[in-house]
Amino acid sequence: MNKLIDFVTSKLTAQQNHNIANVLMIAGVVINLFDIMQNGYVIKLGPVLLAVALVGIGFVYQLLFVRCSHCGDKLKGLKNKTKLPERCPNCGKRLDMLPKK
Ligand SMILES: [Zn+2]
Repeated sequence: MNKLIDFVTSKLTAQQNHNIANVLMIAGVVINLFDIMQNGYVIKLGPVLLAVALVGIGFVYQLLFVRCSHCGDKLKGLKNKTKLPERCPNCGKRLDMLPKK
């Protein structure tokens, strides 16, 4: 699992991973709203499960992969904001850039 985290955080910046997690969660909410518009409040298991799964995956993705590409800091407390700060509060390096090799 740690290798996967290292791989993802070495390819994508914290900001990009943050966006991916947000898109997943927003997609889940949109599917849910769309389902309500289509079917009213009659609960259909398929769309509800899909929506819950997307939100869940987005949430887990955020927990695992939204971290500083430079120092690996998990950026606790910053994740729930729509936009991450420009710099990592731990190491001060830019969150929208990958470490130079
Ligand atoms: Zn850092």
